[in-house]
Amino acid sequence: MQVKTEKLIEDVMGGSGLLEMLHRDMPIDSSTFSIKEGKTYGLVIVDEVNGFATPGAGNLAPRSFDPQIFLMVEETNKLAREFSRRNWPIIAFLDTHDPDKPEIPYPPHCIKGSGEENLVPDLQWLEEDKNAFLMRKDCINGYIGGLQPDGSNLISDWVRKNGVQVMVVVGICTDICVLDFVVTALSARNHGSLPPLEEVVVYSKGCATYNLPVEAAKVGGALAHPQAITHYMGLYIAKSRGALIADSITFPEYVDIHAQESRSQLMLHAL
Ligand SMILES: [Zn+2]
Repeated sequence: MQVKTEKLIEDVMGGSGLLEMLHRDMPIDSSTFSIKEGKTYGLVIVDEVNGFATPGAGNLAPRSFDPQIFLMVEETNKLAREFSRRNWPIIAFLDTHDPDKPEIPYPPHCIKGSGEENLVPDLQWLEEDKNAFLMRKDCINGYIGGLQPDGSNLISDWVRKNGVQVMVVVGICTDICVLDFVVTALSARNHGSLPPLEEVVVYSKGCATYNLPVEAAKVGGALAHPQAITHYMGLYIAKSRGALIADSITFPEYVDIHAQESRSQLMLHAL
């Protein structure tokens, strides 16, 4: 028994051991999510801004190249381009703060005018994309950030206006801003506040979180935040509240109507 307990503590304290335990004892069973004709889909991009995702960009940005964050941006870009060329709605949250209004418990980040509050370079094209709505927010939870002084909510307005039945969510951090938004959207849906929303899908490769191993956390007196484990926990809790976790997303074959039209026009001219 003693040996077993010691082994358990070792597993819990050692990051990789704990991750193995989570996979074994709290499996997520993520799967491929197939986007089908006949439903309306909306893409939600959470806080893929420089201040969180560009190496060296600020207090809460990765210090150096981070593979999980790099993959998140790459996968988000692919997904957003698929949505955009189908003219499907996209909403991007941009964490943005006034310099005199700190967001406790975090150090200053994404201050207006610093550049940290803007989309990462690979996603900046969304600023000009007619399908994308950029929403600045000054708190973790995008649903709360969408609350307006008159009581309306930018998220429910976006869902209603675009008839979004399935939300696909990506972004950073899996266990913080993404999770808070997902669980709130699921509660709002169940409460009847987000019609016609039916389903929330979290795309795991399009999400990332930050890394603060226990040794580094001790130095600064911060809370440890090992990346792989907290990312997994974020996905697990989202799933436990009713989100669908996807590790890949497939689209139906894309038919570019405009290209077809111009092709037939060309053929007509040739005749
Ligand atoms: Zn913030």
